[in-house]
Amino acid sequence: MVKRSPEQLAGAIKRGDSDLYFCPLLFSHLYSDNAGRWRLCCRAAPFGDDYSVRNVSPHEHWTRPQMQQIRREMLCGELDLTRQHCRKCLEIEEAGRKSPRDMLNRKLLARGEPADIPVLREASRASAQGEYALTERCLELKLRVFGNYCNLACYMCAPVNSTTRLKELRQIRDGYWLREMTVPDRPDFFESEEGYERFIGGVLELLPYVKKIKITGGEPFLLRRHHEFLRQVVRTPHARRIRLSYDTNMTKFQLGSSNVLSYLEKFHGVTLSVSVDDLGERNDYIRYGAKFEEVIASIEVARRYPNIKVDVSCATGMLNAGDVHDVAAFFDARRLEAKFNMCVITKPLFVQARHLPDPLKAEYLARIERSPFRERFTSVAHMLGESRDEAQFQTFLRYAADLDALRGTSLFALWPELKPFAAP
Ligand code: SF4
Repeated sequence: MVKRSPEQLAGAIKRGDSDLYFCPLLFSHLYSDNAGRWRLCCRAAPFGDDYSVRNVSPHEHWTRPQMQQIRREMLCGELDLTRQHCRKCLEIEEAGRKSPRDMLNRKLLARGEPADIPVLREASRASAQGEYALTERCLELKLRVFGNYCNLACYMCAPVNSTTRLKELRQIRDGYWLREMTVPDRPDFFESEEGYERFIGGVLELLPYVKKIKITGGEPFLLRRHHEFLRQVVRTPHARRIRLSYDTNMTKFQLGSSNVLSYLEKFHGVTLSVSVDDLGERNDYIRYGAKFEEVIASIEVARRYPNIKVDVSCATGMLNAGDVHDVAAFFDARRLEAKFNMCVITKPLFVQARHLPDPLKAEYLARIERSPFRERFTSVAHMLGESRDEAQFQTFLRYAADLDALRGTSLFALWPELKPFAAP
């Protein structure tokens, strides 16, 4: 392995030297997937179905021999095990395109001088010592271990991520739509409360090295285990140095006597990405169970905290692809950033905006073209520009009709523009 300073590493990354295959995630990113399996990142192949948060602590995973081997391979560019795990990035690069690894490296180098970037300092030390050791506060954890309770039943949500949606879909035609979406029940990550406590104990041990924690649910603010975890972290001196980030529906802060904001204010910084997909009643239909005005009021409460940054994440599909300009304008007027490009809905297939009838697609694309915010809708426009499948659109209408029958709602009352295209 070549010994390199942070500056030399940065130079080799920029030039694309062949004796280095650097990915910052190996020095910063502790990731487990929907099934609790440890992986290098969401694109990397898992180490095995049994290698998960259930039986491997965060520290064991981070320091295990295979992780060390991949880091060594990356620091000398001789890939073996890395090929098995990072196949997706390698294939993209071999095809001459920019991979997620390339983007991550570009972002890393944009952070400032190499000597000021903890990930490069850690990698530099590993290149000098021939072995990586965790010494700095540079870990980013993604925790989805607190449960999947959610009070909403959004029409596009993967049922494993919301207990309310699971319950609702089980009631419709003997679980027909659940089977259509081929989504199994979320496995319980831990066999016992002791197993969960052991895992959380492992996370708490790592806190001196943790820079950021991304927390997902269910709806994290309504998960008892999440509140208890925050209570434990704020008792340590580390909370003041850790940033938190959330995807939240922002419908409630309070859980029993515990208010999540009383914990969040004790962290170095918090980013809340609030899911709002449309305005008023249309939003409340899409995000069934939410009350638009209450969500907006909650956003204003959270924004009063100086360490909390709020933005809006708009998942775009069949029902709101035509409204993206109005949503962006609404939040811009409130000095809130609404993001669209990251969350174009691809699953289930039949809610993809591409399957809308051609006249509606043309109208929605024209609205995007006219919008001063059109740069923010490029992924939405791309999805609308894809070819459609009428069968998928009619499936969507049957699905919505089933939801309406159960809920007492009416798709066509809120989206009359869809009605002329319903099959007789
Ligand atoms: S190289 Fe690609 S697949 Fe491997 S950890 Fe980095 S981003 Fe993930």
